[in-house]
Amino acid sequence: MDFYIGWSHSDAIFCDYFPTCPVLISAIPDNRGGVKKYRNKPKKLILDCGSVFYVKQKSRPPLKDVFDIQLSILEDCDSTAKIQMVHFDEPLLNKTSLSERYMAIERTLFNAYEYLNLFNKYELPKFVQPMGVIQGYDQASIEFSAYELIKMGYENFGIGSLLFKHQTEQIEMIRRAVDVVGSANLHVFGVTGIPQLHAMVDIGVKSFDSTRPTMAAAFFQVFYSRPFRTFFLSESRAKPTSPRLENPLHCECPVCEINAKQIFIPSPREYMKLRSVHNYYHLLRTFKDILENKQRRGEHVVPNVLRARN
Ligand SMILES: [Zn+2]
Repeated sequence: MDFYIGWSHSDAIFCDYFPTCPVLISAIPDNRGGVKKYRNKPKKLILDCGSVFYVKQKSRPPLKDVFDIQLSILEDCDSTAKIQMVHFDEPLLNKTSLSERYMAIERTLFNAYEYLNLFNKYELPKFVQPMGVIQGYDQASIEFSAYELIKMGYENFGIGSLLFKHQTEQIEMIRRAVDVVGSANLHVFGVTGIPQLHAMVDIGVKSFDSTRPTMAAAFFQVFYSRPFRTFFLSESRAKPTSPRLENPLHCECPVCEINAKQIFIPSPREYMKLRSVHNYYHLLRTFKDILENKQRRGEHVVPNVLRARN
């Protein structure tokens, strides 16, 4: 199971610190040429369509424009990478009425169909695969969306529009999608919470992405792990929803190994980037611990057949 770090042109280059780190990049104009700056090119990459960005614009870009940005980022990648390209989806986030939601799902499916035609026309190398976005607001709409994508010919899937939903509802929606497409083929977009990490590990999805290490760093937060904790920098003026910390704790991340005090400097942005690398290290470590715990528990489970004999 892979943790993709969401990356944008002004963020830290996580692959320079963690060479195998999977990355998700949105196809927005400013991210064009971004991978050129990477010393270590991503080994696993999801080229998202940037719909959350475009949905704030007055009009949607033509599908071909988004595809062209994806292709330009693709050109900067190694041919040994595993790359998935995502079609344009119409987010459900700001849709409240049933008809609006239904139209967004229909629109996304239409885009998925058009995108696959475009993708096939370009005869991209085998290491590049298209990903279909499953959308829905309840069990029936998620199943409908997933089955339609399968009919079109998609083999890799992502589930979106989970932000701002309660975690039990998020997990329920992931399970519904998994019932149709299989856990080994499903990516979960935009995950932030530790309870969701536990649930996704239990379900065994293929991958997920998060921008939380960068977002938290920008809001003057630092993470630590074992156990997972968040702190505000003591100089932050944010409302103290988590405890504040004045001095760094022990940390073996690539940044703190050089100088742990750097992550406590609020700005300029270079320090925010270092803080995000430190935060990524702790979120990744927390995720890996959850994964290993699950695997260890699995090894100790007595098969049902044996249990029945006792
Ligand atoms: Zn650190």
